Parts: sequence; structure tokens; C-alpha cells
Amino acid sequence: MNVGILALQGDVREHSEILRRIGVRPVEVRLPKHLAAVDRLIIPGGESTAIGRLLTLYDLIAPLRARAGRDLAIWGTCAGAILLARTVLDMKQGGQPGLEVMDITVRRNAYGSQLDSFELPLNMPVLGDEPLPGVFIRAPQIESVGPTVRVLARLPSGAVVAAQQGRMMATTFHPELTSDDRVHRYFLEL
Ligand code: GLN
Repeated sequence: MNVGILALQGDVREHSEILRRIGVRPVEVRLPKHLAAVDRLIIPGGESTAIGRLLTLYDLIAPLRARAGRDLAIWGTCAGAILLARTVLDMKQGGQPGLEVMDITVRRNAYGSQLDSFELPLNMPVLGDEPLPGVFIRAPQIESVGPTVRVLARLPSGAVVAAQQGRMMATTFHPELTSDDRVHRYFLEL
């Protein structure tokens, strides 16, 4: 198993550290040749418009679209979830298209300025009974999911914050900013 982290922008180092802690040495993916060497990829949080622009610049859109969910398991956290989504609401004018591979509709910066960033325990039944620390930073919200998408976690309000479609997963929060490695372990089994 070769695990990559898309290393164009965002919290690459945090994902790398948590993977190393559980015994995985990740490959930093910046170019198509790096992508060709991995069979799992994490798209980190950061700024989805910046990452989207760099994906285009480095010719990564086409190979990612061809492989995502097939021979490439893929997980997007926060900005990464925006990049996976088939439909993005509130994209900036002239915003970069994302990968559009996962059947979810996502709204950027969905929680407004007061709730810009927040933290709360999440229930994610696939990880067991112990709640997960949910760290949200200018998070998007998953507004709807297609028929083959499984909801993995919701806020108490009902808002979807983690979803899975086969070998693709999106979380609107940041497990890499906590010491809980269960979501990373779950991804390594997709
Ligand atoms: N608000 C950012 C965006 O729209 C995502 C924030 C994050 O990844 N923490 O891309």
C-alpha cells in the first residue's frame, strides 16, 4: 500500500505526522509521476480555490478523475471535501472547477462568521462508540448526498459532516489536527 498526500497547499504536514505515527510513510504528491506511485491519496484542508488552481497547473485533474474511487482510494478533508464534490455551492466567481468525482453537494464556508471555527465531539458509528473530536475551520457543509453515498457522521443539527462512496471519503472537519487517528486508520482500509 502506497499512501500519498496531495502536497500543493494546506495542512500536509499534519496528515503526514499522523500517518507516520501509525506506521505509514506517506508520499508527497505534487506531480503526475508522484500520483502514479500511490494507491491512496489524502487531499488536505487548506484553500480549495488555491488547491484547485494548482491541480490544473500541474496536470493532476485528468489522472485524478480517471482513478478516484477505482484504483485510487481518496479522502478529502475540508477543502479536500470541496474538491471531491460533484456540486459546489457558493464557489467564488470564476472559481476553479474541482474534481467532481463524489456524488455530494457541498456548500463552502457554510457556518458563517460567528461559527467560523468550532470544536465538538462527533459520533461516527463506523469508528465505534467513543466520540471523535471534531475540529471545524471555515468548514463546508455537505448539503446533500447521492443514493450510493453513505453518511458516516452528522452534527446534532443533522448536518452531514462525513460521507463515503465506495473508496471515496469526505470529511468537513480535520482529524489530522487531533491525536485521534481512527479516521486515518479507517481510510487505510477503504
Ligand atoms: N474555507 C476553505 C475553502 O473553501 C476550506 C477551509 C479548510 O480547509 N479548513 O476552501
